[in-house]
Amino acid sequence: MLTLDGLAIKRPDTDERAARRQRMPCVPRLRSIQTGPLRQRVWSGRSNPHRAPRHLASPSCRPAKNERNELCHTAPEEALDAARFGTAQICANNNQIVMQTGNAVPELQRTIDEIVEEMRHRPDRGKVADYIPELAKADANAFGIAVATAEGIVASGGDSAQPFSIQSISKVFTLTMALGKVGDRLWKRVGREPSGSPFNSIVQLEAEHGIPRNPFINAGAIVVTDAILSGHEPKEALGEIVRFMQFLADDPTISIDHDVAASEQRTHYRNSALANYMKAFGNLENPVHFTLGVYFHHCAIAMSCQQLAMAGRFLAYGGRNPTTGHAVVKPERARRINAIMLTCGHYDGSGEFAFHVGLPGKSGVGGGIMAIVPGRASIVVWSPGLDVAGNSHLGRIALHKLTQRMGWSVFGP
Ligand code: GLN
Repeated sequence: MLTLDGLAIKRPDTDERAARRQRMPCVPRLRSIQTGPLRQRVWSGRSNPHRAPRHLASPSCRPAKNERNELCHTAPEEALDAARFGTAQICANNNQIVMQTGNAVPELQRTIDEIVEEMRHRPDRGKVADYIPELAKADANAFGIAVATAEGIVASGGDSAQPFSIQSISKVFTLTMALGKVGDRLWKRVGREPSGSPFNSIVQLEAEHGIPRNPFINAGAIVVTDAILSGHEPKEALGEIVRFMQFLADDPTISIDHDVAASEQRTHYRNSALANYMKAFGNLENPVHFTLGVYFHHCAIAMSCQQLAMAGRFLAYGGRNPTTGHAVVKPERARRINAIMLTCGHYDGSGEFAFHVGLPGKSGVGGGIMAIVPGRASIVVWSPGLDVAGNSHLGRIALHKLTQRMGWSVFGP
């Protein structure tokens, strides 16, 4: 197996991280392993996550606060996008867009506090994943939740600042990158239909000639990783993925948990079977062990609920970072990624998740779930115990309660 040991992207201890944040918030940690940026159509792979691209720095595009301290945009195309997403009102007097967030925040925090309290005491906590041995070390009693809006993290509770293994939630971001790199050609290599099968299933691959059903089951995500890797060294590709997460979360401390990556690498058999099978059908361009090495490592990225909720905001705000106004992807692409999250984000639990939560969502076997409320928020919840489909048991229950109480659903008020 490919060992990316040289990366050694270890999380610094807390003091060092705090000092780093104060000292040099803009310096990427992965410079030494990046020998060349990947080509991205929309996201430019900038190493400074804090600086908006020059063309967005003009007053007409930069979001500003109005007299009521609400975020506003004045660019006409943003008005259209925001209106389409139901995210904004156009003020009659100055033609500004007002992002709707403000007043609901105290109610939201109260609701989150209640949910955290309820979840802390529930005896049914699901089962912590142990097929990747390092994941079994997670504390089944942990529970965290964070909600990010255009204003940043506006409500959070429990262990929302504690990093956990994001696992398959990383697939949302690698899909975003692969679409940025190869565009719709990606859909020749991976489908967009729910699989109705477990995340690591191999059964459909033979009948469907090595084309995985969707980008969120393991087989599909391995193809997506392969598309990112092509033309690059594994370390470059992985560096780009980590930098993309740092950029989106506006946090250069985000890193890979090397122990989790090594643990998954040691228990690779099932993913190796999927990858080799697809290679036999000609659906992997790179050596299997290279593609898997990158895949295992991006699944092992560690992030907190707060960091991940920040990173997901572009999906809630028409493809844009709502703070900087920087376009990550076009609005249509954000909508489509949300659509795939809704239909495929929880494997054979996707129907149940849509039924109970009513939002696009992506789970990971580390116990995290990222859910998107278009136009309003990006939510991340973390509870390591999983249900039978491999999705966070309490995570889904907590999101069900939150969305019910807040009236959030893509299916109507
Ligand atoms: N890295 C995990 C795997 O490949 C991801 C699975 C998941 O989070 N559902 O099995």
